[in-house]
Amino acid sequence: LMQLYLPLNFLGSVYSSLRNSLVDLEHMFGLMDERADITDSASALVLPARLDEAPAADIRFEDVQFSYRPDREILRGISFHVPAGHRVAIVGPTGAGKSTISRLLFRFYDVTAGRIMVDGHDIRDYTQAALRGAIGVVPQDTILFNDTIGYNIAYGRLGATQAEVEQAARLACIHDFIMSLPEGYATRVGERGLKLSGGEKQRVAIARTILKNPRVLLLDEATSALDTGTEHEIQTALRAVAANRTTLIIAHRLSTIVDVDEILVMGHGQILERGTHRALLERGGLYAGMWAAQAEEDAERG
Ligand code: ATP
Repeated sequence: LMQLYLPLNFLGSVYSSLRNSLVDLEHMFGLMDERADITDSASALVLPARLDEAPAADIRFEDVQFSYRPDREILRGISFHVPAGHRVAIVGPTGAGKSTISRLLFRFYDVTAGRIMVDGHDIRDYTQAALRGAIGVVPQDTILFNDTIGYNIAYGRLGATQAEVEQAARLACIHDFIMSLPEGYATRVGERGLKLSGGEKQRVAIARTILKNPRVLLLDEATSALDTGTEHEIQTALRAVAANRTTLIIAHRLSTIVDVDEILVMGHGQILERGTHRALLERGGLYAGMWAAQAEEDAERG
């Protein structure tokens, strides 16, 4: 039995150290920076990263086409504009290509045709480090470091003071929870520490991003429905982090995006409808149908 156990145990520890490394989308992309096909041009530009260095960024997708494999087109000509400080949400059925758009903006892959512009330059003209430094990601599921909850927030900007960490935690509606823990900010979390709920982990990710203060925010909303109290706190926290930032939201629950500047409804790699919540409801098309279906689901759940 021991012969079987040892290799399994070894694999288990490789797995858990791998998982620890993949702290979040950003970190994961960072680790995988060296994709051979994504390179910096010799004259690559830098981009101010933080909102206290420059105003929010301007983002434009121009007829973007993309496929992971040559035989299957995923995006077939996507165009949209997120002016500085605006919020745009992307909705649509599973597999429509919503997350692909965020991967392309982060330049995890290069577009097959068309271009993505940030502040008037093709993102391929920036260094990858500069581009990624300017984008803060709040992923669906944040994996925490095996460290204190304070460190997990401070990771957004190493060198931040305790007062700054606490201010970010307050804005993210997680400070009171942290203070209720026996060791406060020194409480260890992660796989070997205190297990946090999905909503708590997301608020840690939000606090981290507030501290990072990026010019662009990429929110990948959690699919799972949260209880009403948690949902409310998360929404307050998200509003705090999105304020004044150029924000792209991959949304699953329509109730959270009723006040964004523009909603893009995707299907089969295209934008099928676009407009404000109100305009889309009046139109009585796909979005209006999704809204009605979600209202019915919510009513059934009680
Ligand atoms: P969901 O709401 O379920 O997250 P989505 O709209 O975000 O869906 P994407 O993750 O963008 O969808 O995926 C779009 C399509 O691209 C899917 O059909 C998916 O199978 C395919 N796809 C995603 N990643 C890869 C990959 N690395 N290689 C090949 N195909 C992929």
